Amino acid sequence: MSHRTITSRRVTNAQAGGSHPITQQPLIELKRKARRIHNTLLKTYGVPVWNRLDGVSELVSTILSQNTNDGNRDLAYTRLRARFKTWEAVRDADPEAVIEAIRPAGLANQKGPRIQAALRRITEARGELNIDFLRDLPVEEARGWLTSINGVGPKTAAIVLLFCYDMPLFPVDTHIHRVAGRLGLIGPKVTAEQAHTIMEQLCPPGQHGTFHINIIRHGREICHARRPQCERCPLQGECDDYARRRAEETRQGECA
Ligand code: SF4
Repeated sequence: MSHRTITSRRVTNAQAGGSHPITQQPLIELKRKARRIHNTLLKTYGVPVWNRLDGVSELVSTILSQNTNDGNRDLAYTRLRARFKTWEAVRDADPEAVIEAIRPAGLANQKGPRIQAALRRITEARGELNIDFLRDLPVEEARGWLTSINGVGPKTAAIVLLFCYDMPLFPVDTHIHRVAGRLGLIGPKVTAEQAHTIMEQLCPPGQHGTFHINIIRHGREICHARRPQCERCPLQGECDDYARRRAEETRQGECA
């Protein structure tokens, strides 16, 4: 998990039935489309389950996951937990010892100091290594607090707030950015950062974690970056990219 200031970018006309400010498509239609896609993915992959970590553990795990795969992240996380008994011990450790423990995650020289700085920042702000207070904050306030920590961007914040505190956020990683773009849920020029806000609004209420995980799975198993397996994709009928390519093939066939 498969997350920079966002507060001011929150679109407020989602429920008003207006057009999306970036895609210019009617929001109501995009929401219906998102729900159909969600239902199809549920039929295809089922309801995913995920391990629920405490907020600090999820934050550390998510920092470790930046620019690497789940396997490397998990190995680094396991080594870190084995080497240090508590997050306080990680915070106060020799930076080289932390870097060595998390080396499998890559960019250890950046991630180690980043993790320790985040742990120090939480301690300074809260007097302890616990961020459960975020659960009681308004979503934008909680997101703003987390993203004020150096190295915590919108994806990391969204992962922590969604998977630890059930907030209706939508982390956008490379798979989600690609798949949502091909499907036409987000426009071709929408950045991953902008896509967070859009997907939050398009997602069926209460389904953010499930939809997020199933889109990532779809990106990994079928809608690959280089060669999407459209011939076996259950979302063909919803996919703008597929329709565009088919139309282009038809046009070329007529010209031949
Ligand atoms: S039809 Fe192809 S491009 Fe579209 S979502 Fe499916 S696999 Fe991806």
